[in-house]
Amino acid sequence: MPTISGLHHVTAIAGPAQENLDFYAGILGMRLVKKSVNQDDPGTYHLFYADAEGHAGTDLTFFPWAHLAPSRIGHGLATEVQLTVPRGSLDAWGVRLTGYGVRVGTIATRFDERVLPLVDPHGLQVALVEADDVTSRGFTPWPESPVPVHEQIRGLHGARAWERDLASTAHILTGTLGFTQAGSDRGWTRFVLGGGGPGRVLDIRETPDERRGSWGTGSIHHLAWRVDDDAQELVMRAAVEAAGLRPTPVIDRFWFKSVYFKEPGGVLFELATDGPGFAVDEEAAHLGESLVLPPWLEAQRTAIARVLPPLTYPPVLSQRAVT
Ligand code: ZN
Repeated sequence: MPTISGLHHVTAIAGPAQENLDFYAGILGMRLVKKSVNQDDPGTYHLFYADAEGHAGTDLTFFPWAHLAPSRIGHGLATEVQLTVPRGSLDAWGVRLTGYGVRVGTIATRFDERVLPLVDPHGLQVALVEADDVTSRGFTPWPESPVPVHEQIRGLHGARAWERDLASTAHILTGTLGFTQAGSDRGWTRFVLGGGGPGRVLDIRETPDERRGSWGTGSIHHLAWRVDDDAQELVMRAAVEAAGLRPTPVIDRFWFKSVYFKEPGGVLFELATDGPGFAVDEEAAHLGESLVLPPWLEAQRTAIARVLPPLTYPPVLSQRAVT
């Protein structure tokens, strides 16, 4: 049975676009690999941060919807995105983040992994996780990053989600999508793809007494999972439908093809093909430098560009005095 192979990208909701860019490119040192627009709301940016080449699985993307209220944490939402960093780098990350006034937690151990939780400027919970990157997804360092190569973020590690009823979500994860249940730690149940590790982790906490969560600034919008190609996407889509869920038709996102569905607890999932990738419409050396629109929005470029706020990239940052 074909299955998904790991996270493809994670998309979250941000506040003002420049603040988002300053944080992810300037402080976390990820490369802006695509500056585009939300294809369903072209007056809003869609900003993509990844490794230097935008390998599938390294990509954290944002819709800066500054007018939204803050998200309400609760069940039916992914609540944290985890990013892989090299072993031994978390202490340096702690110093760097603190120097910029980022809200960081203390280094903790979860499922035998060293983790540094932090909160981005718009309330999104992010965790840096130390790991050897043993997956085959590929990583290309970004020489222009303000973070040295030996500490740079390697890509997506996993995510956390809250669910009202763990069993119904677990049934889809293990029965249809190819996850295996891999233990529990302080209230969290871990599901992994393959043998687990970077890009292959989903941790779920059952929260029957919590309210339902709602999207807003600082929330994860969806988790996108990798499928190899168009054919595998159709097979997985059929499996999702056969499991009683309601997947959308295949939508051409130009850099990949997507199918969306809500898992039984309400978290929005996407299936996304590995190709064709971000270099299909920009030279690899100049990814993210200009506003890129899918071909069907090109005719509206002038009107779209007029409503988007200007962005300064690379960002100009100043360290706060550490007191
Ligand atoms: Zn997506």
